[in-house]
Amino acid sequence: METMREVESKPTILIVDDMATNIAILSDLLQDDYKIKVAKSGQKALEIAKGKEKPDLILLDIEMPEMNGYEVCKELKNNALTNNIPVIFVTARTDVKDEEYGLNLGAVDYISKPFHPTIVKIRVKNHIALKLKSDWLEELSMYDGLTHIPNRRYFDEMYEKKYKETMRDKKTLAVLMLDVDYFKLYNDHYGHGKGDQCLIKIAGALRSTLKRPSDMVARYGGEEFVLLLQDIDIEGATKVAESLVQAVGALGIVHEYSTVSDHVTVSVGLAFKEKESNVSQEKLIKCADDALYLAKERGRNKIAIL
Ligand code: GH3
Ligand code: MG
Ligand code: MG
Ligand code: MG
Repeated sequence: METMREVESKPTILIVDDMATNIAILSDLLQDDYKIKVAKSGQKALEIAKGKEKPDLILLDIEMPEMNGYEVCKELKNNALTNNIPVIFVTARTDVKDEEYGLNLGAVDYISKPFHPTIVKIRVKNHIALKLKSDWLEELSMYDGLTHIPNRRYFDEMYEKKYKETMRDKKTLAVLMLDVDYFKLYNDHYGHGKGDQCLIKIAGALRSTLKRPSDMVARYGGEEFVLLLQDIDIEGATKVAESLVQAVGALGIVHEYSTVSDHVTVSVGLAFKEKESNVSQEKLIKCADDALYLAKERGRNKIAIL
């Protein structure tokens, strides 16, 4: 089991070269420390880089038929999906003009052949270390440390984006504000640690209730969560809101001090932007918040719509 995890946690390097012998030399050099993927053309390289399991580093040849390495690098750097993958050119071209051009395209390094294997290994190791650190910082800045779902900052960014998109395309947008009922009492009686565990479980339940890739759930603050559903009708959004309440109830987390149930429950406020609506970004959130307040007033463990 130990080895399985080690294998899986190895950083991934994509080697791009039209010559099989060049690929073999580099992968022999690096395969003990990294998971190796290979591409024999620029097109194939882009396909892999944009794919589900992204490489942590790309070693890129320049001279290749059809699409050369410079073009590949340009495209990688111009695409939001791939622009944070570091690129190192590994090439027979030794002219400083080529090196300058390559680095100006956004490559982090440039290695001319013939290269010294140990030096290549060390450079790769350094760039991989930087990449992993920057991934980690990104994770810290966008995801909530406790529940590992998107945090408030990430939500604000996505909300602005989705709001603009649904305004432009005249699509619907539902904002669901969700708050744990009597959570102060839960903390007071079971302790903060149990409270934290409870929030982790709730986040998991919310996440698994969402079905479509465009749906989003984030931790809005404390024991409050927010969800965005685009391109959905009011009946659909209402169903999702109800299934969120159900999913949290179904966790069956005992809460003897809640007056609404014997287990932990949540209340949900739903605000809905119609296709043609001009409601402002701020107003829509405010509406969801007001609806949540209404759900609380009406007895908790339920949804309210405004
Ligand atoms: P209501 O049903 O009206 O929502 O009542 P409530 O007790 O849930 O609301 P209140 O706002 O009074 O209390 C929220 C509590 O959530 C208080 C706070 O300590 C707790 N809380 C916020 N963030 C965290 C967290 O990260 N971990 C834990 N354990 N508790 C948290
Ligand atoms: Mg070549
Ligand atoms: Mg609250
Ligand atoms: Mg609460």
